[in-house]
Amino acid sequence: MDAYYQTRTALLARCFLGLAGVVLLRLTWMQVLHPERYENPTRIRYHREHKLAAQKGELLDREGRCLARCELVASIAANPQQVVDAAAAAKLLAPLLRVPQSDLTAALGRRWRQVLLRRDVTAAVVQQLQPLVDRKVLRLERSTVASSFSLYVFGQQFLPSPADRQALAVVLGCQPDELDRLSGLPATAVRLRSDLDAESAKRVQQLGLTGLLVQQNPGRAVVSVWLQPSAAQIIQTPNREGVMTPWATLDPAVWADLTPLWQGAEVPDKGGVEARLRAPFVYLQREVAIELGDAVTALIQQHPQELAGVSVHREYARRYPQGEVARGLLGRCDVDEHGLSGLEQIFNQILSGVDGYRKVTVSALGRPILQEREELVPAVHGKLVELTLDSVIQHYGEQAVEAAVKEFDADWGLAVVCNPRNGEVLALVDVASAKYDVPRNIRCLATAYEPGSIMKPLVVASALEAGYCEAHSGYYCGGRRKVGSASLNCIKQHGPESVADAVRDSCNMVLIELGLGLGEDRLRHWFKKLGLLSRTGLGQAGQEACGGVFEHTEDGHWTPQKVATVSYGKGIQTTAVALCRAYSALLNGGRMPELHLVRRLRERDGTVVVEHPADQGTPVFSAATARAVSEMMHQVVADREGTGQLARSSLYDIGGKTGTSVEYRTHGQRIVSFVGYAPAKDPQLLVLMSVCEPREGARMGASTCGPAVRQILEQSLQYLNVPPLPQAPSSAPGEATP
Ligand SMILES: [Zn+2]
Repeated sequence: MDAYYQTRTALLARCFLGLAGVVLLRLTWMQVLHPERYENPTRIRYHREHKLAAQKGELLDREGRCLARCELVASIAANPQQVVDAAAAAKLLAPLLRVPQSDLTAALGRRWRQVLLRRDVTAAVVQQLQPLVDRKVLRLERSTVASSFSLYVFGQQFLPSPADRQALAVVLGCQPDELDRLSGLPATAVRLRSDLDAESAKRVQQLGLTGLLVQQNPGRAVVSVWLQPSAAQIIQTPNREGVMTPWATLDPAVWADLTPLWQGAEVPDKGGVEARLRAPFVYLQREVAIELGDAVTALIQQHPQELAGVSVHREYARRYPQGEVARGLLGRCDVDEHGLSGLEQIFNQILSGVDGYRKVTVSALGRPILQEREELVPAVHGKLVELTLDSVIQHYGEQAVEAAVKEFDADWGLAVVCNPRNGEVLALVDVASAKYDVPRNIRCLATAYEPGSIMKPLVVASALEAGYCEAHSGYYCGGRRKVGSASLNCIKQHGPESVADAVRDSCNMVLIELGLGLGEDRLRHWFKKLGLLSRTGLGQAGQEACGGVFEHTEDGHWTPQKVATVSYGKGIQTTAVALCRAYSALLNGGRMPELHLVRRLRERDGTVVVEHPADQGTPVFSAATARAVSEMMHQVVADREGTGQLARSSLYDIGGKTGTSVEYRTHGQRIVSFVGYAPAKDPQLLVLMSVCEPREGARMGASTCGPAVRQILEQSLQYLNVPPLPQAPSSAPGEATP
């Protein structure tokens, strides 16, 4: 028995020893040789957030034609630090990417890049660095910081009349009451703006308001210092595999020579500069078709050694399928698809949506810990914006305005096409000649200008509605008249004129009579009611200007001369869209609809989120007044004496009004306009076109804009299948058979 137990104990002891040995070995392996694999995951953990990108919505026209959308594209990039043999990689990629092999070799082999060490260095420092510049270790870059203007307000002197305040608000693109808080401020000067462009600065100065100072910020010469790795001594060390390692060191002597550069600045970390010298990322091709990206991915899988460091990224790119049509109006986006100008900017928020994220808890090794709950906030994708615009009518408008700007050698031209029945905007055209800067904003919204004589039908309608006169009331035009201290002229001595004749002939004298008869208060009331001095809301503040009446007496009232001139459209500024809204009241039985650009907003699956409500329009005039004035405008084009005969069409019965103005108190620019609509009996389309500074031709609204407006109306109405007038046959059928 003893022997049995002894053997058994010995056996157990040996087993224990063996087991203990295994455990010991395993522990040594775990804790000494590979400790990183066995760190306690519950002790070190963190969250990793994955962005769930919201997809940007599309912009569609009223017929569902896509104006702007995001497309999935591929970009092909490389990390040159990981490329083993640039020439071999280039040879493989060149046939697919259709890029010269030598270009690819250069890009893939580009391991170093120049690094900006310091911007804005003094002349003394530049002098001390000259030896390094001579050795081409450093490169100097001279540039000028662009000049802009600052606007200062001296609060104690800045006590503008309500009208002056409004005028300033128009120029600055802000609400007048935003300027209120500046008046009477005790501080000596408050800088209201520091980044005014030259045009706005000039306009502010021309307002001549006391308590304002416009000062040009000087354009400043700035020297930047770059480190050129090609000349700086960079040591590349081969690693064990014989491949260039991604690290390099700057020659300590070069680093020491740079000391004068850091005067007055923090000395950067040498390692950081060395890291920045390495080119970690180059694009070989951006935003190419997704199929090409897939082909490159397949190639990388086939040749993982040769194409190490080459990668394919999928991203979204904004595309404009209608080509050049409405291109300026749509505006542009930055690389992150954030709208910077045009409709992309106006609708950016609606189109963009909100990114979501997924938050996972991961262990120290980066593995998700499954028993932890992950947090998921899904992305809210951008909406589809269905506009009221029609890209075909937009195209007609762009063609006509572009041709006019070219033919008459003008600075710019604009056109608004809308449906006066419901306020839908069908086209917003904005053309600038090559000589003139392309505007950042949509000029139909952003520029307030003197309408000139196209104001007359609106003032006549106000006078009729106020009961001050009737269409056939008689007046007399002597060609000239004195109001206050000013002598005001008509284009000619018209003699006896009725109110209707005055619209047809564009007679200033009758309008002066009506304006003075109505008086300042009633004119103000009608301008306000017609929305001429407020925004339409098509653009946000800063994108849309609001109108204003300038130059008043001390007590904020208009002088008699001002009352007289605003009646024929001088000394008042308003925008093209505000004018179209006001005209719609005349063509829609006296009811003024709200102008709008959006028909509906949809989700990506097509569900309608918001629809523009049917709009009866705000009553402004009686139906009788609207009918009477639209008949007068019909005679402007139809009558043999009318000023708008150049807009007459054999296809449609057109009505309208001409206008010419030399812009008041701003640029002294000549702006000519024509407002046209058709068919006269049942207006379906309203077109307002203005051209700035025509240098060729008769330089009048009728000659510069009349034929173009007729062309836009004819083409658009035919496209909309509006039946044309029965054609007067060249030989009447009745006469053919005697
Ligand atoms: Zn006259």
